[in-house]
Amino acid sequence: MSILVVGSVALDSVETPFGRADRIVGGSATYFAAAASLYTKVNLVAVVGTDFPMEQLNFLTERGVDTRGLQVADGETFYWSGRYDYETNTCESLDTRLNVFADFHPVLPEGYEESDFVFLANIDPVLQDEVLMQVPQARLTMLDTRDLWINTKREALTEAIRAVDVVTMNEEEARAFVRTYGTLTATKALLNMGPRIAIIKQGEYGCAMIGEDGYFSVPACPQEDIKDPTGAGDTFVGGFLGYLDRIGEVTPQTVRRAIVTGCALASYTVEEFGIDRLRSLTLDDINKRYQELFRCTQFE
Ligand code: AMP
Repeated sequence: MSILVVGSVALDSVETPFGRADRIVGGSATYFAAAASLYTKVNLVAVVGTDFPMEQLNFLTERGVDTRGLQVADGETFYWSGRYDYETNTCESLDTRLNVFADFHPVLPEGYEESDFVFLANIDPVLQDEVLMQVPQARLTMLDTRDLWINTKREALTEAIRAVDVVTMNEEEARAFVRTYGTLTATKALLNMGPRIAIIKQGEYGCAMIGEDGYFSVPACPQEDIKDPTGAGDTFVGGFLGYLDRIGEVTPQTVRRAIVTGCALASYTVEEFGIDRLRSLTLDDINKRYQELFRCTQFE
């Protein structure tokens, strides 16, 4: 079992009320791989520039992530900067520089095409589509996106969503994409485009999903020490798909468990700036928060 991920490997500058970090390692594919690799084999496709501190990804190769698909191109690494206020669910993107991603075309190294799951992490939907064409036999495909692509590549994004099994977005982005105030309406509209499952990420409030057994919703893991929400969404998906790939069965019940696993993982990412908390995370840590979430959502 393995998961192919295409997305950004980035340098991020992030500001929150609790501090700031400059040019730290981030990116949608990085957070995803750090989370999913705790459960299964991850095959990474992305590009970085010659300025990227490759040694920072050593912990991923140690966890078995295949980085043959990580190209190093002449130029600067994708750069993103963002700011969060006390409202952690709303991020203001201050700067996005595609840099080496502007001329990137994903090429799958030998064997990647056999990945049974595919995650098209947040990246230009044209690139997401290019990857999708190369893996026609994938058992399950999933797509995430964010503000920039909703605002600038609406048509390509719509095409890509039509082609995947699972779509996910932040609540605010889903409303903007579908042009509605109602989260339930937005979720249904995403489903009507073609996917079997639509998951709306609600940041500190958890997430809502409509799947084959109808509507399901869980809160985020109760957490007091939040420093930086960046990457929580990608970590969530890493836990979600990583768990499902390890279990090997996609049923309404395993999908619900995968969602809770994703929430448990994401609750750790927000404890530190960048990917640091994910470096040392263990399955025991995740299980602890999974059980907490189970306890605090039970009622008769
Ligand atoms: P999240 O907080 O889970 O939505 O993801 C944050 C990560 O997404 C950061 O590490 C950024 O480097 C990356 N990111 C931000 N904007 C974009 C974009 N337009 N395309 C690809 N990756 C992005």
